[in-house]
Amino acid sequence: MERRTLLKTLLAAPFASWAYAAPPKTMKGIEELQKNWKSFLPTGASVPSPTEPLKLTKEEWKKRLPGQAYQVLREESTERAGTSPLNDEKRPGIFACAGCGLPLFTSEMKFESGTGWPSFFTSIPGAFETKKDFFLIYPRTEYHCIRCGGHHGHLFDDGPPPTGKRYCNNGVALKFIPKDGKA
Ligand SMILES: [Zn+2]
Repeated sequence: MERRTLLKTLLAAPFASWAYAAPPKTMKGIEELQKNWKSFLPTGASVPSPTEPLKLTKEEWKKRLPGQAYQVLREESTERAGTSPLNDEKRPGIFACAGCGLPLFTSEMKFESGTGWPSFFTSIPGAFETKKDFFLIYPRTEYHCIRCGGHHGHLFDDGPPPTGKRYCNNGVALKFIPKDGKA
């Protein structure tokens, strides 16, 4: 093997496991991803629609959600970076709201941001509402599930092209539904 080829092979190897498909190059491609999100659902899966709001009392949410999921979804807390098993989730499927099951992202919308939180460059259309918050003094764009109002994370403008968006999502607020139906 030529020295240069060997070097290339060695350099390429560690990144082979980070096999995210590159984001589409154009906004048209992004629209296609958004349109085709249902193809990431397991066959026969039924999921709620954004037009059926889920409203529960604080006590009901506490019963429904385990400790940290309640803190994040209902109290806008943030999980510690690097703690979510979903950081490494790369199988085809859907990331749904852990509060109400509404589909939010497909696996094709995920990318490795290096932040320690599951990150996405776009979302399933109509899944979120946003608001500005000032928890850290400077304004940030908070986003939450349109169906249950659950807080998911913050939206930043430093994502990969063509959207330039980064949905920085708490893993504990998400439930992954693999396309092959296996847990
Ligand atoms: Zn929800």
